[in-house]
Amino acid sequence: MGIRTSALMLVAALMFSPAMLAQEHAVSGQAILKLTQQYVDAAPKRYIGSPGHDAAEAFIKEHFKPEVAKGNFIDDRFMARTPIGPLTMHNLIVKFPGKKDGIIVLASHYETNYWLKDIRFVGANDGACTTALLIALGQYYREHPPQGYSVWLLFTDGEESINKEWTDQDSLYGTRHIAAKWSADGTIGHIKAFVLADMIGWKEMNIDRESNSTPWLLDLLAKAGRDTGHSKYLFKESQAVDDDHIPFRMRGVPVLDVIDFEYGTADNPEAYHHTELDTMDKLSATSLQVSADLFVDLVKLINER
Ligand SMILES: [Zn+2]
Repeated sequence: MGIRTSALMLVAALMFSPAMLAQEHAVSGQAILKLTQQYVDAAPKRYIGSPGHDAAEAFIKEHFKPEVAKGNFIDDRFMARTPIGPLTMHNLIVKFPGKKDGIIVLASHYETNYWLKDIRFVGANDGACTTALLIALGQYYREHPPQGYSVWLLFTDGEESINKEWTDQDSLYGTRHIAAKWSADGTIGHIKAFVLADMIGWKEMNIDRESNSTPWLLDLLAKAGRDTGHSKYLFKESQAVDDDHIPFRMRGVPVLDVIDFEYGTADNPEAYHHTELDTMDKLSATSLQVSADLFVDLVKLINER
């Protein structure tokens, strides 16, 4: 019996090995790269108030028709007080209900900087590729509904500052708003982890040990690196980053910022950051594969914790 089973399994493995290999990657880095290109083509400039910003929202919504139909796509519209006056902003939330109480939020900002509106800034790595990553993760959770905690995708608006100089008052508009809203309605108490993706498509990516993140989530990220064989893409640098996880961290939610802040050349490690050089040619399917593998594994590990 044992031998027969093994023989059958061997035959099955030989017959189905391409499918099994494909299953190793729940989400395809190549597909994310393609989606990023489509997003950048549809909405090259996505600063708040621009036609591109509307196009970006439409692009995201278009990819979640089944969730829109089920009422699991939420347009969280709000008015933000900014240095240039009140501006309407929108967070977009997509819910994939799980089987046990608790929510894992996966987030990325989708807009580009207002203060870069007059240059050709497309934010391929800064905003676009992580928006595509979230869309691709959503496609995966649609096909494989969460068996544990619910997974909510949060496409945040107004992460970037309006003025060039970043301040606490002029940045993180979307997450400051939604963290307050979810505190008021009690949602925040159900959030087991808030995991942020930012600038993780660069072909030379190495994800920082981001020190505003919660230690046990950094440990899980390290474990995800080992599980997926991607440890070499992790933790060459340690630094604290002000990002969309901060408003949640301030409210006691466990947070993780999966980010590679350095984005440039040896001479100037920020040469591509917030410049016209943040373009599609800087990205690679390999880095996006690494990021996707890490996110899928992190969700699994948070559930097992
Ligand atoms: Zn940015």
